[in-house]
Formats: sequence, structure tokens, C-alpha cells
Amino acid sequence: MNSSAKNNVPDSPLTLKMVEFRPEWQFEESKTGVFYKNGVIPGKLFITFLGGNIQLDSAKQAIDILETMFRSNVLNNCEYIRIADYTDVTKASINTRMLYANSLNRLNEEYHCRPVITYICGASLLLKTMLRLFASYVKQKFIFVKTVQDAFELINSGKGLSFAETNHPITITQEEIDNFAATCGHILFDEFYIVDEKQSFVSPGHPLYDLYTIISLLNNDLRELQKTEKEQKQKIEEALNNARILNKKLSEEKKNVEEKEQIQQILIENLKKARIEAESASKAKSEFLANMSHEIRTPLHAVIGMTELILDTPLNEEQKHFAETIHISTRQLYQLISDILDFSKIESGQLEKEQTTFNIRTLCNEISSLLIGNARKKNLQLEIFLSEPLPESLCGYPVYLRQVLLNLVQNAIKFTYQGKITITVKPEAETADEATLRFSVRDTGIGIPDEKKELIIQRFTQLDSSATRKEGGTGLGLAISTQLVEFMGGKLNLDSKINEGSEFWFVLPFQKPADEVTANTSVSSAPFRTKGSEPKDYAARKLTKSEKILLVEDNITNQQVALAMFAKLRYNVDIAANGIEAIETLKKIPYALVVMDLQMPLMDGIEATREIRRIGNEIMNPDVPIIAMTANATEEDKKKCLKAGMNDFITKPFFIQSLRELLEKWLPNNNT
Ligand code: ADP
Repeated sequence: MNSSAKNNVPDSPLTLKMVEFRPEWQFEESKTGVFYKNGVIPGKLFITFLGGNIQLDSAKQAIDILETMFRSNVLNNCEYIRIADYTDVTKASINTRMLYANSLNRLNEEYHCRPVITYICGASLLLKTMLRLFASYVKQKFIFVKTVQDAFELINSGKGLSFAETNHPITITQEEIDNFAATCGHILFDEFYIVDEKQSFVSPGHPLYDLYTIISLLNNDLRELQKTEKEQKQKIEEALNNARILNKKLSEEKKNVEEKEQIQQILIENLKKARIEAESASKAKSEFLANMSHEIRTPLHAVIGMTELILDTPLNEEQKHFAETIHISTRQLYQLISDILDFSKIESGQLEKEQTTFNIRTLCNEISSLLIGNARKKNLQLEIFLSEPLPESLCGYPVYLRQVLLNLVQNAIKFTYQGKITITVKPEAETADEATLRFSVRDTGIGIPDEKKELIIQRFTQLDSSATRKEGGTGLGLAISTQLVEFMGGKLNLDSKINEGSEFWFVLPFQKPADEVTANTSVSSAPFRTKGSEPKDYAARKLTKSEKILLVEDNITNQQVALAMFAKLRYNVDIAANGIEAIETLKKIPYALVVMDLQMPLMDGIEATREIRRIGNEIMNPDVPIIAMTANATEEDKKKCLKAGMNDFITKPFFIQSLRELLEKWLPNNNT
């Protein structure tokens, strides 16, 4: 057995440099940072540097390494000095230490060696106390030093063992125990107790000093913990409070939103109601207009028809003059009613919005042919200029364009006493699918003063001039034209000089129809048949039975007017007083044409038409053309008629010329 360690002073001084650290004795765990660095001066000293947060798993592996080291036979049959450096230990559980200590004891027994003294370096107060408590359990003597260097110094000075073996008798007075108990009481129960070593009654070296310090430290830790816990509780409380406030705000916000939504809902409801009211008001207005126009048109139709018939009978000069005056007045009245109806249609947004394809030359020629007679009567020239290149066909609103141009040309004729009226259509711009055209109606008439220009174009204004009074008119024409031009996408403009003439003009965009090919360069300037053209010799007409017309009309006056007109045009007419009579008659006679009133008792025109068109009825000529003849003049009425199966539409009142054109259209083979 090596006896060197038994002496107080080793044979030669021991140093750290002499310690052998074989690689296989080292344990280092990068994952946890735990290490056990083992080194040996064979037969003399065993040193371990340990560190990290040592848990049971790491300790078990470290023990395996320890066994490897003992197997190297560097410590057998000897008493050795043990050094353990705890400086880098952050934590080591009591179980871990017990396991390690027991294993070391077992190995010592196995290899017949034992640590004569153990130097503990860098141990915390708590660790020191704990090691003291189980020093006897592990059968070891401990000396606590600060550093490994201190340990070596003690070893080499030979004082180490005596230092460890010193066993001071401890004398404690009753007063000291009481004081200590009181202090412990303070420390444990007084929250505000501050550890102050100077004030304490025990000085370093006193047997109670370590115990007191440990209790103080524990207490401090406890206070620290309590403080942290309190702070955390406070923080949680604050967070909870904030959450509560937030929650409250949220529910208030939700309430606000709900209220707002409610208000919005009410607003929407009100708006809906207002819209329904407005719509029904507008519907009521259109219905009223339709009714009014029906009521006025029906008697007017009789007046116009009868006047035209009277004018066709032998009359003396005076009678002829009276009848002509009636005729002119009824024409004016007719114009007024049409204008009012048109205007209210535009106002209530009832304009037909569907575009149709049309030819601009044809349209201009129609206008010319309709009005050339009026111009000639006043010795005025009516010219049309169509500048090239004009697209062959265009998409737009030919009916409205025609109405505007007619009104402008009629006005021009009205307010011109010498010279000419010129209609000009000029392309302004053209792309592959669009064409923009400028329309102008220029006259050499009386002109319009500057200050009245805006007024005239805007609304129902007639100039207070002798010419206006002389020519008459409703003052609605330009207002309607302005709105129609706007509807079509343009603006009606006026250039005029007093006594020199006026030019009304506007620019409109048109879509080109998809199948438009090339512009036709040859201008057909030949006007269509004009109003002033020679009437045909209707007396020469011979009618056959198959060309019979059935007039369905309940009003006796209207029956008489129509009968007289048909007779004048030499058509052969039968009469049915309502739809039921008409159907019965159509079952017996194959009529060539049916002219049908709409409002009738028992069965109205629409219902009768549906029955005539119904498959499986006993009508002799179920494809017979049906023309509605009615004072109901709205676009809606027209649609209804066509939908029921009618073919055409003539609005009462009409002039005999219109009826003639219509009959020629539907009975083209009637002329012989
Ligand atoms: P109406 O001709 O039916 O009275 P309009 O709205 O068409 O109604 O015209 C309003 C007024 O504008 C006319 O009464 C007339 O005083 C004036 N006016 C319209 N066109 C011309 C024109 N070409 N030359 C001179 N005055 C015109």
C-alpha cells in the first residue's frame, strides 16, 4: 500500500501539471454541457473537474467512464487524495450525488483503495452544507477550499488533514440560541427583513454562522420567488383586466355595429318603399297618360276621319273653307297630343333602348319625301347633302333620329320665307366598329336672337314673334329633340343670325353592325315617294271576295269613320262588334286582313288575337294578318299586340293617307 499520502507532507510537492488526463477517462456531453474531467497522479491523487446541470442520465454515463478509469489500475491498493472542483456546477440533484458517491465507494472497495481526504473546490454554501450532512454517509472527510490551487497548497503544506480532522467542541449559550431563534423568526416571518451580516449577532467563524447564512439565503430566495410570483400574479391580473376591458369594448363595438346595421336596414327598407312608391307613381303617371291619350285620341280620330271625308264630298266654297279650317286645327291638336305623349315618355324614361340597324340615306330621303311638299308650297328648296364616305348601315335609334330631323326641318320650313333648307350629314370620325356623324339642318330664315338661343333649345320656349304666332306650334318640338339627341349620345347646338338664318346641328356616335362590309359610294339622291306625289287612282281598284277585310270595333262612331275611310279607299269591309263576334265570323269567311280595336267589351283585341292564332281552332285563314287599330299608343301596348300575334299597328287618330299605306303594305296584290 502506498503510504505517501499518509504523511502530512507528500514526498515531493504535487502539482496539477503532474496529473494525467487520459482521453478515455473524460466525459463531456455537448447536448447538456455536463462534463466530468478525470485525472490521476497514479497511486496519489484523483482529481475531477465537473460542471453543468448534472442530471441522473449524465451521471450514469460519467460513472461508466469512472469504471474505465479504475480499470486502468492507476488507483488500486492505495490511499489517495481526492479533489473535486465544483466551480462550474450549476445544479446537481441529491439523487445524482448519492449515486455517484455510492459508485465511487463501490469502486474504492473493489480496487482496495480509499480517499484519505477530499478537497471540495468552488462549492456553493448550500452544497457545502449538504456535503457536510452526508460526509459520514459517504465515509469521507471534506475540506472546502475556493480553488484547485488552494487545494494543492493545503496538500503540499501538510495542513490539509489536520484541518479536516479538527473537531472543535462547540459551545453555544442559551441566549445565543434564543437570539438565533428570534432572528430565524424574523427572517422567516417578517416580509421586510433584510439580511444584513454586520447587524447580525453571529460573526464569521461562529458555529451558527453558516446555518444562519443558509437560512438567510433560503429566505432571500423564497422572498425573491414570492416577489416574482406576486409580480406575475399582478401581471396576470393586469392582463385579465385588460382582456375584460377589451371584451367590454368589443361588445360595445358589436352593439354599435348592430345598431348601425339596424339603421342601415331601416334606411334600405325606406329606400325600397320610396322606390316602390316612385315606381308606382311613375306607373300611375304613364297609365294616366295612356288613358288620357286614349280618351282624346278616340274622338279626335272621328273628327279627323270625318273632316277628311267631308272634304271629299261636293262642298260650296264656304263649306270647304270651314272644313279645311277644322282639318288644320285637328292636325295641330293631333301634333300637340303626340308631342305631349312623347315628352312624358322621355321624361319617365320610357324610351325604347334597343338599337336597330338602319340606312342613313334611306332615312334622309324619307324625311325629304315627307316634307318636300311643304317646302314647295312655300317656294323653298329642300336639299340633302350626304358627304362621303358614309357607312352603308349603322346601329342606332332611327325612329328618334327621324323624329329629331323631321322636327328641325319642319321648323326650318316654318320659319323661312325665301331661300332653301339644307340637310347635311357628314362623317366626323370612323373606326372599324364605330362611326361618328354630324347632322345639320340649315335654313335661310328669320334667325334667332343670341339671348334666346339657349332658352329655345332647353324647354318649351316659343319666341314671342309674329312669325311664331303666325306659324303656331306647341313649343315642345325642340325640347323633345334636345332630349332625344342627348339620349342618342349627342348635344343639340344652334348657330343663328337674325334675318340670315339658323343652323341646328348635332354629332352622334354609331356602332357599325358586325356584318357591315364596304361603304357604298353611290349616293341615291332620288327621294322616296313623297307626300306631294300623285295619288293613285283608287277608283280603278276592283276587289275580289277573297280580299275582304274584317273590322273589329265596338264604338259606333269609330265604326262609321273607318267604314267611310275603307269605302273611300275602295276596300270591302265587314264589321264585328267585339272579339267573340270576330272569331265566329272568321270561322265562316276567309278574310284577307283583320283590323282590330284593342279595348272592347266581352272579348278584347289581345284575347281575340290569341284565339285566332291558337292551333286547333276552326278559323278559316288562321294566318290572316291582324292590324291593331287603337288609341293606346304606348310602346308597351305595341309590344303586347305583337306578342299576342298581331302583325302591325296603327294609332288613332290617323289620316287617310296612313291607312292607305298600311293597307297597301298588307294587301299588296289588291291592285288590279
Ligand atoms: P314649335 O315650333 O312647335 O313652337 P319648337 O320647340 O320646335 O316648338 O320651337 C320653339 C320655338 O323656337 C319656335 O316657336 C320658334 O320661335 C323658334 N324656332 C325653332 N326653329 C326655328 C328656326 N329654324 N328659325 C327660327 N326660329 C325657330
